Amino acid sequence: MPAESVAATVAAVPLVDHHVHGALRHAPDRTAFETMLSESDRPTPPWMTQFDSQIGLAIRRWCAPLLDLEPLTSADEYVARRGELGEDEVTRRFLRAGGVERYLVETGFLADAIRTPAEMSQVAGVPADEVVRLESVFEQVAREASSAAAALRAFPDVLADRSKDAVGLKSVVAYRFGFDFDPERPDVADVVAATGAMLAAAGDGAPRVDDPVLLRHLLWTGIDRGLPLQLHTGYGDPDLELHRCDPLLLTRFIKLVEPHGVDLLLLHCYPYQRNAGYLAQVFPHVYFDVGLGINYTGLRSDAVIAESLELAPFAKILYSSDAWGPAELHFLGAHLWRRGMTRALTAWVDDGEASAADAARIASMIGRENAQRVYRLDAR
Ligand SMILES: [Zn+2]
Repeated sequence: MPAESVAATVAAVPLVDHHVHGALRHAPDRTAFETMLSESDRPTPPWMTQFDSQIGLAIRRWCAPLLDLEPLTSADEYVARRGELGEDEVTRRFLRAGGVERYLVETGFLADAIRTPAEMSQVAGVPADEVVRLESVFEQVAREASSAAAALRAFPDVLADRSKDAVGLKSVVAYRFGFDFDPERPDVADVVAATGAMLAAAGDGAPRVDDPVLLRHLLWTGIDRGLPLQLHTGYGDPDLELHRCDPLLLTRFIKLVEPHGVDLLLLHCYPYQRNAGYLAQVFPHVYFDVGLGINYTGLRSDAVIAESLELAPFAKILYSSDAWGPAELHFLGAHLWRRGMTRALTAWVDDGEASAADAARIASMIGRENAQRVYRLDAR
């Protein structure tokens, strides 16, 4: 039966999660756990629970059995069982159940609360490589430098050193400003002035890069470094203004980067996955995924995945979970991706519009091979 063979094939693809963060080190309480089931940073109001959402249903349906509970067990029972097992055991079970063969771990966000790439590798039993966040490196350099000019002089070398074993770089320009920035390399004098202003505003505290001149400088220094560059795109926490994170706003930047031979990876993209598919079709150095959106759309993630398959060549789409924190997210990203891909590909095969061999090839390309090629993982 073709349908069964597609499901089995997709289930067997070992995934490269090309953008993910560490799993929690310590067990969260109920409030903290629920906060991590939403991209909102606002407290959950007392008259609702985040379990009454797509991701909440998905956790009760698909994660509960991995903690020895019945599917769709209550939220109270779920959280109690989680606490009983402890974070190490919960994390071990979820990371090992997702069928991920390699994690590319971005380390730039609240790194103290989560496991390092080496710790992820240990608990999952598979390799984990690092993706380095441009803004975090520069903020550290600026904090330690004696002046704005000194920080800017040191940055390329520090970035090269910090990323010497990394597979890629990442930018959060979407959060810090938006994509409606001047795409050209900024003037040196403007960059020095912007760095000075950032240091003055920080005083003795931690500097934060949010000036578009500086963000552009970081992007172009990243392009000079030559590693694949990930850009958070679309949906995310309320630091960003979503309407300014449509990847189409990057079109002129994408054109300027093209002659430099650096691949750009548009991360997650929801609800702009169709726009990302267009960019991935027309520009040879543009790739995208629909991670993050998959977890939070739960039952409806099959529709998001199907849309991601509309326009882009299959060689330009990658898998990610963008999980940060609870290891449920690391597992669900993989599980829901397999579910959505199986549904899409099964329909094509059943209708005679693709062969079972085509379905297997497409699932393997998106699940692992495209990431292996872009990040040169075979050479590692
Ligand atoms: Zn991320």
